[in-house]
Amino acid sequence: MARCSVCGRRAVYVNRAAGVAFCERHFLEYFDRKVRRTIRRYRLFRPREHIVVAVSGGKDSMALLHYLRGLARRVPGWRVTALLVDEGIRGYREYTVKRLVEYAEEHGVDYHIARFKDYIGYTLDEIVRRGRERGLPYLPCTYCGVFRRYIMNKAARELGGTVVATAHNLDDVVQTYLMNIIGNDWEKVVRLGPVSGPASHPKFVRKVKPFYEVLEKETALYAVINGLYTGFEECPYARLSIRWSVRRMINELEERSPGVKYSLLRSLETAIKLLRSQGAGEAERLYTCALCGEPSAHPVCRACQLRLQLGIMEVSREKLESLPPEARRMVEESLRLAEKRRPGGRGDGGGGSGGR
Ligand SMILES: [Zn+2]
Ligand SMILES: [Zn+2]
Repeated sequence: MARCSVCGRRAVYVNRAAGVAFCERHFLEYFDRKVRRTIRRYRLFRPREHIVVAVSGGKDSMALLHYLRGLARRVPGWRVTALLVDEGIRGYREYTVKRLVEYAEEHGVDYHIARFKDYIGYTLDEIVRRGRERGLPYLPCTYCGVFRRYIMNKAARELGGTVVATAHNLDDVVQTYLMNIIGNDWEKVVRLGPVSGPASHPKFVRKVKPFYEVLEKETALYAVINGLYTGFEECPYARLSIRWSVRRMINELEERSPGVKYSLLRSLETAIKLLRSQGAGEAERLYTCALCGEPSAHPVCRACQLRLQLGIMEVSREKLESLPPEARRMVEESLRLAEKRRPGGRGDGGGGSGGR
């Protein structure tokens, strides 16, 4: 049985890579030290801040909410609001909404629930079905990711938030890093740091990752110790994603040679530095979407592009003609995609259809 490296009590946490073990109490101290260090090192927060915590209801985001709520009570200029984007996956989301509401009411935390239905007009289930009917080449996670980010930014701004904190942990970050390497997408790698940006736009709320240097198993343990882990976790679409395979692969590597995840994080930091020294990410500026007015990396935002392809957004002839050439080209391209794929019928089949 492993013993706490500090007090010799029975350990609940063992970190083979670092050669330490902790009992419950010393694990919590270690966790707190680690997160504070990240917050300080990367200057995640300012003296006055309305922190909107992006909550999914899963253990990671409940852990983040619990942590930041505790921290905010000790910092006079800070306020915390939980924001949950409800995409409407039946048989999954109801439970996580309930968990947030119960937590918020018990601990007196402000919260807000932003529904896909209200912002996009459809639930994710409806969108996925529609996309399959139209033969669009996207996995459920693509729609979810694009619309979720879109709604998150908009709702956070409407709430008066000055910063959005997301629960991405070290595991999430290195998974995304590997996925971007596979996709040869270095512009995305530059943006993988703990603070989003340098993008600025009057409607863009900056995003930070306080758990950037914390392992998934650490946030899980933190959640368990604080009574925030009640099982029911996994999005039913998760297994269809590429991330699922990448995650398993990294976990296998870590098992065989402890420390792989930290190495990947250091590799990412080197990559960001190298890319920045080459000027990557500097040209990054945000457009204002020509259709919806939200901040976007493109003249027409991804959410509007998808809505056009799904046939749930219309653009009048006059509007189309009034658009700047680049935006107009993007709208026409999306409309073409929507048309071209339309006949040909339903791609439901036995599960594997949504993508490749
Ligand atoms: Zn101890
Ligand atoms: Zn848009």
